[in-house]
Amino acid sequence: HKDYGIGQSLKNLGISSENIGVSTGTQTFANGDVIESYSPTDGQLIAKIKSGSVEDYETVMAAAKAAFPEFRLMPAPKRGELVRQFGNKLREKKDDLGKLVSYEMGKSLQEGLGEVQEMIDICDFAVGLSRQLHGFTMHSERPLHRMYEQYHPLGVVGVISAFNFPVAVWSWNTALSWICGNVTVWKPSEKVGLCALACQNIIAEVLKENDMPEGISGMIVGDHTIGEKLVADKRTALVSFTGSTRVGRMVGTKVAERFGKSILELGGNNAIIISEHADLDMSIIGAVFGAVGTAGQRCTSTRRLIIHSSVYDEVKNRLVKAYGQLKIGNPLDENNHVGPLIDTDAVSQYMESIEKCKQEGGKFIVEGGVLEGGNYESGCYVKPCIAEVENSFEIVQHETFAPILYIMKYDDLDEAIEMQNDVPQGLSSAIMTQNLCEAELFLSHSGSDCGIANVNIGTSGAEIGGAFGGEKETGGGRESGSDVWKYYMRRQTNTINYSTTLPLAQGIKFDI
Ligand code: NAD
Repeated sequence: HKDYGIGQSLKNLGISSENIGVSTGTQTFANGDVIESYSPTDGQLIAKIKSGSVEDYETVMAAAKAAFPEFRLMPAPKRGELVRQFGNKLREKKDDLGKLVSYEMGKSLQEGLGEVQEMIDICDFAVGLSRQLHGFTMHSERPLHRMYEQYHPLGVVGVISAFNFPVAVWSWNTALSWICGNVTVWKPSEKVGLCALACQNIIAEVLKENDMPEGISGMIVGDHTIGEKLVADKRTALVSFTGSTRVGRMVGTKVAERFGKSILELGGNNAIIISEHADLDMSIIGAVFGAVGTAGQRCTSTRRLIIHSSVYDEVKNRLVKAYGQLKIGNPLDENNHVGPLIDTDAVSQYMESIEKCKQEGGKFIVEGGVLEGGNYESGCYVKPCIAEVENSFEIVQHETFAPILYIMKYDDLDEAIEMQNDVPQGLSSAIMTQNLCEAELFLSHSGSDCGIANVNIGTSGAEIGGAFGGEKETGGGRESGSDVWKYYMRRQTNTINYSTTLPLAQGIKFDI
């Protein structure tokens, strides 16, 4: 096996063959089962992690709860300084961490590095924000009164993350939580525990160098039982959950039952409308990148193309040609375009979806299948495929986390927008058109119903400066930029009477 320098990167990130998967910040311990992390790129065991037990969870939560009263009193810009230092450490470790993300999760090296860059970017964003946590001041209806609003920290923020963004999602939550005065407890996906350990090692250095107490950034590598504890726990003021709609539905219900707050970032079923006024070169690039990037394992991956009938055949032929040129192989090799799926379970789901699609009448114009032998011995490499379908097929309404692209035809834009919206999910959407009226209609209130709507850019990826998230079964949460920090704080309205009388509302008088 070609090493791609992984051994050295693991060393640089403080990862050995056997690791401890629980931390209150700088202190580590673990009493749960051992999790073995295998790379989907070559099927090799990367390292072992001792996971957290329920008792370990209690220790981490108790430390977080204890740290909060102190941390919330630290001025926000000082907390921003911690985030600045964290961002600098990420800059130093970018190559190593990016490589580990690629090796453990299976996305391309460029995407692994891109994910770490997102972490750096959110740190920069949060540092500036730490001096801008502002509320409004409004004029009171009463004389000699002042009214304003302010934002206070919430407490413990629980972060549960998915396998496909093993490092960035946690940093979005932690950077914002910290500047807002919250402490965090992270339950990463057990499929990518080494990425989480590497992140924890980096943040532990910042905590140590600044002599911070334990509990500000805790982490527990563990399975769904630990996630369930975190969700049900009244001490978790906010649960930020990224994952499937199936699990998110349970998480949202559980948190609501106890009147906790949640941010839900769930599955997508993202479409690009390719109009008769589209630049087809741009459209093909956007569609192919969106459908096969990260082997179709992004929440924003392009799953559906809704193509105007007048350009349908041309787009179809060009897609077939482009797919014919895709190189599938080790994602650490920059010559490859498509890497593996996360594990063989994901491969089975991909195969089942292809089967279901065929049963419903889907016609594959690029056939799928599992790759075997040679460099594909992990059993996780699959062929990106394309099927002609109806939007109403059950399988098309469902998010399969794999590179299956569904294409369909439309005649007028209203019909295309209706098809685009006619799925349970509402994350990302795009239109390819050079026509201003079409673009504006798509972005209008009668246009896309998604949290993200783009013109002449595909559906996949997003900049950290904007609010990220989606509607309907995508959960309605928002993370990252814009004014998303408000989700991590509680709003308080304050009225101050600086007169010497107390005028009561509605002119009510008390003779006391
Ligand atoms: P998943 O739902 O299987 O797991 C997500 C996390 O939830 C993991 O850490 C898992 O251990 C934990 N978990 C599982 N059961 C739980 C329970 N009962 N209570 C609490 N936690 C529990 O998702 P996955 O396969 O890791 O990720 C893929 C999914 O995530 C896709 O649907 C994708 O669209 C979605 N996703 C969404 C976004 C977004 O921002 N909208 C981003 C990335 C991924």
